[in-house]
Amino acid sequence: MESKIANVVRKIPLSGIRVMLQKAAEYDNCISLGIGEPDFDTPKEICNQALKDALNGATHYTQSQGDPELVKEIQRYLNERLSEDFSPQQIVVTTGGVGGLTSFFRAVLEPGDEVLIPEPYFPPYRNHIEWVGGKVIEVRTHFKDDFVPSPEDIEEAITPSTKVLLLNSPHNPTGAVIPSAILDKIAKIAVERDLLVLSDEVYERLLFDGQTHESIRTRPGMNERTVVVHSFSKSFAMTGWRIGYAFGPEWVIGPMTKVVSSYTSCAPSVSQRAAVAALRLGSEIIDSMTEEFCARRDQVFEDLKQLPGVKVFKPAGTFYLFPNINKITGDSLKFALDLLEKQQVVVVPGDTFGPSGKGCVRIALTVNRELLTEAMKRIRAFIKDIS
Ligand code: PMP
Repeated sequence: MESKIANVVRKIPLSGIRVMLQKAAEYDNCISLGIGEPDFDTPKEICNQALKDALNGATHYTQSQGDPELVKEIQRYLNERLSEDFSPQQIVVTTGGVGGLTSFFRAVLEPGDEVLIPEPYFPPYRNHIEWVGGKVIEVRTHFKDDFVPSPEDIEEAITPSTKVLLLNSPHNPTGAVIPSAILDKIAKIAVERDLLVLSDEVYERLLFDGQTHESIRTRPGMNERTVVVHSFSKSFAMTGWRIGYAFGPEWVIGPMTKVVSSYTSCAPSVSQRAAVAALRLGSEIIDSMTEEFCARRDQVFEDLKQLPGVKVFKPAGTFYLFPNINKITGDSLKFALDLLEKQQVVVVPGDTFGPSGKGCVRIALTVNRELLTEAMKRIRAFIKDIS
């Protein structure tokens, strides 16, 4: 009967993240640095407000575009943060950031259209593109450049079939942030070559060292050709609520709203109420979580730097580190599996996210500092044993 399953789904490989988590289940006493999800629970104020609203009847479908009150809060948030004047028609509420990605690709891609993606990248992108007949064209990035994509390499990969460039900054899995001057150059290419840009900015609030977030959307000529995906998952520790939004020019957001209407009718209404509460809470919660992730980054970065055979750059945002272990072994999967077997620490092989990640592993800083100290002790012992 399996042959009846669609080819595009049958051929999806088990992701390296799942492989590691399944293996990890065989061990007691594991420390998982494998999951890209904040370890904090959603703030109680948000849960309480959502509960109250649900008891008061926020249990029905909303408009496909979103609960008007949430759209208004998002509008206010964007206007304040970006000093612009958004209209509600430029916003659509989605089922997680992932809902923004799927509805964008469904809305714009025709079979054979090419999408450029700097790799390594968040693995589901490929499925979202291929399921609607699009073709992924990977653009390599390099450890020596902190995995920042090169505008020249992007330009070289453009063909007459290229429709979309997908950017993700701050970046999963590397934690890299695309510098301002590189954004300028990429934007120039996108305008000259008439590309649409999907800018995945779900980590926009997780930036360290006083940096402010920059979006390619703000560059000349980009407003009309960029859709930005945001999410409540990472900034407000709301992964399970499945709530996010996309914003951009009305000519794309309108069709994306039609897609949302058919795919999910609307985002979950109770989660939309939670999102209203989150936006009204202001920045304090985000700031305190970001501070904690920054302290964890500093701790683990300093520890990794001391390890023989390990190279690491300091990520500017997110909660990931992407050290290079090539001097120990070029086989990231073997490194991760052996580390799990010998020391019960879960990391994710870097090539899960694309060939440029070979020889690297992703470390998620999603456990507390005490556990990180213990995890680093185990990693140090593991490397000492095998060197
Ligand atoms: N984009 C990136 C780069 C991500 O890492 C994730 C989640 N890990 C998402 C999008 C989707 O986030 P969500 O659907 O939980 O909002």
